Amino acid sequence: MPDIELLTIGTELLLGLTIDTNSAELGRALAGAGFTVVRRTSVTDQSAAIAEAARAALVRSGLVVCTGGLGPTADDITKRVIADLFGAPLEFHPALWQGLVERFARYGRIPSEKNRGQAEVPRGAVVLPNRWGTAPGLWLEGELAGAPGSRGVAILLPGVPSEMRGLLHHEVLPRLASRAGDRVVRSRAVRTTGIPESSLAERLGEIEAELAPLSLAYLPGALGVDLRLTAWALPAAEADARLAAGVRLLTERAGRWAYGENDDDVAALVLSTARQRRLRLVVAESCTGGVIGARLTEIPGSSDVFLGGVIAYDNRVKIEQLGITQELIERHGAVSEAVALAMAEGAARLLHADAAVAVTGIAGPDGGTAEKPVGLVFIGTVLHGAGEAHRHIFPGDRGEIRVRAAQIALSHLLQRLMAAPVDLGPPM
Ligand code: ATP
Ligand code: MG
Repeated sequence: MPDIELLTIGTELLLGLTIDTNSAELGRALAGAGFTVVRRTSVTDQSAAIAEAARAALVRSGLVVCTGGLGPTADDITKRVIADLFGAPLEFHPALWQGLVERFARYGRIPSEKNRGQAEVPRGAVVLPNRWGTAPGLWLEGELAGAPGSRGVAILLPGVPSEMRGLLHHEVLPRLASRAGDRVVRSRAVRTTGIPESSLAERLGEIEAELAPLSLAYLPGALGVDLRLTAWALPAAEADARLAAGVRLLTERAGRWAYGENDDDVAALVLSTARQRRLRLVVAESCTGGVIGARLTEIPGSSDVFLGGVIAYDNRVKIEQLGITQELIERHGAVSEAVALAMAEGAARLLHADAAVAVTGIAGPDGGTAEKPVGLVFIGTVLHGAGEAHRHIFPGDRGEIRVRAAQIALSHLLQRLMAAPVDLGPPM
């Protein structure tokens, strides 16, 4: 696999004000396309720092992808600095200027003198059109100034992650294909939730030998444990085939705890599963205070199955809005299986839903007792009147407990919904 280096440019990256997601994304995509990322560097928006880092990368590896500093402001100097490294003068590019004028016109604006620099291109560079923003990417290739016989390729991309991503996939990767190696590094992940890392490992058993030569990593997070499979330096077709088989094996072994792959979101699965079954959902949230509702409404199109819910934080709301009796709360406590169940039943009945999920717990930092510690959460679900409740104790601080409780609540709801039959009538 040929070597490649990454150079991310921006003072904000070094100050820690912006997280360098571009490097992470480039690393994944380039490894998957057959390159070995051998080094990544971040520098401030200063010409000496950019020039030195880019030149060193070109001398070492011959291929560097840079992001940031392509915009119209005074701190955007990447193009000029890199052009200098190749001894290429900047030339005005009328077609680019025309494109910029038209793009501005669509928003009722006229480009300023500052923008004129964006229509300048280093002599001999290939312009990579940017349909996602104003600054195009650039591909410079040739001999480095002052180093006869040397050759290098510098690919300049905008810093804005969405623009970088658009250019990477539509312009850069297709052009790099001819230089890529015939081997790739690729990964796929199986997502699980509701099962601790150690129990999951026990369940999977000695699976590593069966998965070889793929490697398996357990990646625990607040949403659950991801099982990441990686194929190292294999021919692309073989990597894809082995990953597909590995994902099948892991999904089967992880059983009901596996809910999806890669970036899959359990909230999105709840909505699609409910949609297929024509079920309308509501929530009743105490300690999560709306996190579940936020997770569901974050997804476009959620309104056809998600009706809404009640944030029943105070007991009075549980009683007055969800129809729970004072006596039930006194007998079991607000944080109890009985109340979680009654909250879900009350929400479904009062809001005329087919299914509901309810959460009541102690998010801390205060309010825990020996019997009911911080992190204790009860989750109730109801589907067509049939209730179910689960008890969990979550680790972490207040924020983590709320995030974990919402995630597990959604996964319990998903389990319930999946057990219902699919409705084959016309779509909702
Ligand atoms: P623009 O045309 O918007 O000025 P640019 O190419 O000049 O784009 P920058 O000005 O460096 O890019 O950065 C634009 C935005 O993208 C900033 O909000 C910055 O924080 C963000 N950004 C820059 N580099 C990265 C990076 N490596 N990872 C994630 N975000 C980044
Ligand atoms: Mg900028």
